[in-house]
Amino acid sequence: MVSMEEISDGRLYGINDMVKADCHDCVGCSRCCHDMVKTILLYPLDVYRLAAGTGKPFTGLLEREVELGVVNGIVLPNLRMTEEGNCCAFLDENGRCGIHGFRPDLCRLFPLGRYYENGDFRYFLQVGQCDHPHTKVKVSKWIDTPDYARNKAYILRWHDLLAWAEEILESCGDDLLKKNLNLAMLNTFYMAPYDNAADFYGQFAERADRMEAALGEKE
Ligand code: SF4
Ligand code: SF4
Repeated sequence: MVSMEEISDGRLYGINDMVKADCHDCVGCSRCCHDMVKTILLYPLDVYRLAAGTGKPFTGLLEREVELGVVNGIVLPNLRMTEEGNCCAFLDENGRCGIHGFRPDLCRLFPLGRYYENGDFRYFLQVGQCDHPHTKVKVSKWIDTPDYARNKAYILRWHDLLAWAEEILESCGDDLLKKNLNLAMLNTFYMAPYDNAADFYGQFAERADRMEAALGEKE
């Protein structure tokens, strides 16, 4: 297992901290939009934003831009790399993100990542991933995420739900139950379309309530 010391600058950052993450609009570079295999996972807010921005429902995105993978036993969507260019299908012919305004959470963060601890998270700076010269920027400015308090509450709840589902899948010996749990997660948080005219966080909370009720009592 890779340690935090190996992949980061050894510090953890809060939302109001300055961090050396600003790579100046990535001029001339699109490295982290290439060859990412299945690592750019999509969270529920991402599919809400993508549906609003592209006009395509999740099932439509699965035809080209998105695919399903398995992470720690859970079926989750990720950005698909194209066969011809081995790059994200949203990368345009000028090497720029074609969906910058509604890019997924992980693209928003990079080269930052989240470090979860004691029911909360802070940010860390990934090193060795981006060769561009970096200058300091406030974390809140870099991640460009409005309504931060509600966004954070949603991210934490989603993280908890994934951990809970992982735990159940790990301890479950019944393949049919595993399949049904994965189908329920996928249908509840991704396949069932969100109403883009309504607030995302309320819709997510209602779905999370339903999923938690179906999963049963936490130990
Ligand atoms: S490697 Fe750095 S400069 Fe290049 S696209 Fe990624 S974040 Fe931007
Ligand atoms: S969504 Fe945009 S930033 Fe993210 S990998 Fe695709 S092209 Fe790059």
